[in-house]
Amino acid sequence: MREFINKDGVSQLSRRDFIALAGLGAATVAFAPRFVFAQKKGIVQTMIDSAAQAKIETHTLRRNISVLEGSGGNIAVLTGKDGKLLIDSGFTVSKPRITEALNGLSSDPITQLINTHWHVDHTDGNAWVHSAGAAITAHVNTKKHLSTSTRVEGWQYTFPPVPAGALPKTVFDDAHRVQHNNTQIALKHYAPAHTDSDISAVFEEADVIHVGDTLWNGIYPFIDYSTGGSIDGTIRATEHNLSVVTDKTIVIPGHGPVGNKASLAEFRDMLVTIRNNVATLKKQGKSLSATIAAKPTAAYDAKWGQFLITPAMFTGLVYSGV
Ligand SMILES: [Zn+2]
Repeated sequence: MREFINKDGVSQLSRRDFIALAGLGAATVAFAPRFVFAQKKGIVQTMIDSAAQAKIETHTLRRNISVLEGSGGNIAVLTGKDGKLLIDSGFTVSKPRITEALNGLSSDPITQLINTHWHVDHTDGNAWVHSAGAAITAHVNTKKHLSTSTRVEGWQYTFPPVPAGALPKTVFDDAHRVQHNNTQIALKHYAPAHTDSDISAVFEEADVIHVGDTLWNGIYPFIDYSTGGSIDGTIRATEHNLSVVTDKTIVIPGHGPVGNKASLAEFRDMLVTIRNNVATLKKQGKSLSATIAAKPTAAYDAKWGQFLITPAMFTGLVYSGV
């Protein structure tokens, strides 16, 4: 698999977060056991280790579309005579279990791969999926970030360029259409949201949309300011998602269980409320530590703060953008 370089070890940000977290006492730590774990070895390694352990769960959605959950971002699969089309490729460590899950769906070879954005938990498997026969399609900025050494400050990680075979061959700027297995797939770039490379993929006949990491269903999202993401961009993308779905649309998030319009609305309300809470505290002149200590996310933590991005980290991500 691809090698990862962590050039700095523990950065300024994580030290500040640690100090802030330490000041909050045991109650907050109890909410955030995985945060402490993640900070010791880094978020990227934590995600890889988690994928290395995880079973791949298959959820059948509608028509010939399924979702594989358990290796980084959710992977959508469209089966049929033209071969399997995948949306996102997860982590390479999951290859044997993803292969087994794919074989459980059908015997079609893999022929197409679309990346929702450039992040490693959605593209690390590109090399093997390409070797298995897939042509890769993505936004032009996904190719740009995968082609060069790219730093993600929020993960304290610098990703080296990927091998040529792992790069998307077909790239687009605003919109692109793919016809595959008698299915129309409409790809659309978001204005910068979670990164500057996010796209949605709509399976039109099935009324299923993969919104990538513009939705973390029921969990606080990561926002990648290093490659164009922001809290306000994430809110705008969510408003866009709400405007293009109906009550019948199946919504595949980047992370978390498959959802629907109500999931998007709940995510939007959480984002907007916390954004406003944090902005108010920052306008009062509060430091990041003081803002975290004021618990601007408190009403949402029991539900949303139980995954990789903890209340303190999410507060920090929002603070950076208001
Ligand atoms: Zn992402």
